[in-house]
Amino acid sequence: MEELLRRSEKLTTVGQLAAGVAHEIRNPLTTLRGFLQLQQESKKLALSHVALMLSELDRINLIVGEFLILAKPQATRFVTKDLRDVLQDVIALMNSEALLHNIEFRVSLTEEGCLISCEENQLKQVFINLIKNAIEAMPSGGRIHIHITHKREHITIAITDEGMGIPEEMISKIGDPFFTGKETGTGLGIMVTQRIINSHRGTMEIKSQVNVGTTINLMLPALKEARENGILEA
Ligand code: ADP
Ligand code: MG
Repeated sequence: MEELLRRSEKLTTVGQLAAGVAHEIRNPLTTLRGFLQLQQESKKLALSHVALMLSELDRINLIVGEFLILAKPQATRFVTKDLRDVLQDVIALMNSEALLHNIEFRVSLTEEGCLISCEENQLKQVFINLIKNAIEAMPSGGRIHIHITHKREHITIAITDEGMGIPEEMISKIGDPFFTGKETGTGLGIMVTQRIINSHRGTMEIKSQVNVGTTINLMLPALKEARENGILEA
């Protein structure tokens, strides 16, 4: 519970974040400017310089994209959806990237309806962020297990990888803005995820063991009608 509170506290000020974003963007901008100046002084750019410029631009784009999700006003459109459909859309979207990294999805879905009220694209963003992290945790491939259960008021989604895991002393820092353990990470994925889950009145829990893997447990409130009537059409 304390951990949950602590997490929601650090999600409050978009303004603080903006300062961080500005800082993160300044480095790649400096690199870009340097190369363009070289070009202007008519020292021809090497192809490797151009590749670097592109990757710096991609990085800026990534950081700004994740920031926009956070900064967007929260009053978005909530619709009734079956969580299994949302998840299957995301898996279809990410399947080719997973295959490329030698990763296989193992999905087990409850037979019961999983209706929730959600902002669909934001929820998709959650699954994309978590699956991306799982893929990145398994550089030589492996399996991602996705398990959905529906018990009374709650739907739980467990996303488990067989990756490198997270050292215990690192777990409390995950979700802090710009905290990343990766060379090219933005350190915004979990923060965005936590924020979206909060806005859906859900909770997120991280369990991890170094060299064994990580499980992210999400719990979201199920729609009342779905509980009373059993399976409903979405
Ligand atoms: P990013 O992926 O850009 O680094 P995130 O907020 O998504 O930012 O994740 C923060 C950090 O948490 C990651 O850099 C990584 O060190 C750790 N992490 C998150 N998910 C996992 C996972 N499934 N396995 C191992 N480490 C993880
Ligand atoms: Mg990430």
